[in-house]
Amino acid sequence: MLNLKPLFDDIELTRRPLVIAGPCSAETEEQVIETAKALAATGIKILRAGVWKPRTKPGGFEGVGVEALGWMKRAKELTGMLTATEVATRAHVEAALESGIDLLWIGARTSANPFAMQEVADAIEASGLDVPVLVKNPVNPDLELWIGALERLYNAGVHRLGAIHRGFSAYGKHLYRNLPQWHIPIELRRRVPGLPVINDPSHIGGKRELIASISQQALDMGFDGFIIESHCDPDQAWSDKSQQVTPEVLEFILNTLVLRDESCTTESLQLLRKQVDSIDNELLEILNKRMRVTDEIGQFKKEHRMPVIQAGRYEDLMSGRVKLAQEMGMSPEFMRKILAAIHEESVRRQVEIVNRR
Ligand code: PEP
Ligand code: MN
Repeated sequence: MLNLKPLFDDIELTRRPLVIAGPCSAETEEQVIETAKALAATGIKILRAGVWKPRTKPGGFEGVGVEALGWMKRAKELTGMLTATEVATRAHVEAALESGIDLLWIGARTSANPFAMQEVADAIEASGLDVPVLVKNPVNPDLELWIGALERLYNAGVHRLGAIHRGFSAYGKHLYRNLPQWHIPIELRRRVPGLPVINDPSHIGGKRELIASISQQALDMGFDGFIIESHCDPDQAWSDKSQQVTPEVLEFILNTLVLRDESCTTESLQLLRKQVDSIDNELLEILNKRMRVTDEIGQFKKEHRMPVIQAGRYEDLMSGRVKLAQEMGMSPEFMRKILAAIHEESVRRQVEIVNRR
């Protein structure tokens, strides 16, 4: 059980939803200041900007580095906003805290790496500052790793803690850049009571068109706020341009969101239902994937003039899966019914493929 402190003392900032906004990356002093001013004019209180950018491949824009911390400071002086940036190493923590950054966040690649997490936690502890830290979910859907990252910070004395749900990497093409897998952050909230969890619709969707709907889903699931990428000229952004919106568009999106009444007694029931909805969506994706693979098997059988049904295969498949299901605590009759239905549909599709001209 973590004994957490509020992220901020400022009463304005304890109101739901908390909104952090700003460019993916700090690019130039003008871009940071112009964006910050426009965001502040819409009432946003916390400015984000990436100063060091973790890039998948070398050669991309890796952030301006320390110089950009001065621009954040200037933006803070001009607008009164608090400032937030991503840290991944001891040197980042030292530089960010030295220049007065008010809130640190840990990126998804860092929270997946216990060595880096420990280094960051130790560096914050060594600073002696009581800085709030938000931990993004690790790139892989591993709740224990996410909780472990939070615990490393907690054990280093960081008690102003929060989490950011930014979705999970998946191979192949999907509607989302990073799959939300909503049941994972929901389970995090159950496991770490009192932990503020905010949503990052920009990195989940990867497209500006998806920000509003993802944000509304997050609110409906009781998230505490958002971190959203906003740039004064999104199409010219040096990183993540397709998912950034202008401060004006951000204001419009935030105004369309509907805040549901939190105090209703059925809230936990609703949360569980949302969890079920999310798991069912994953079930559909997995079933669809299975159908596509069995379609390929159908194609192979057609090309090699093999019969659709192979003796023995069905019983092997059934008995192994039914046994496993039983070990997991599900009834064998239930599993037989499900597998029979799935198998029947795969065979029907394969017969269609084999007979196609
Ligand atoms: C970011 O917030 O710009 C970022 C790099 O995010 P993530 O760690 O979620 O990929
Ligand atoms: Mn980004």
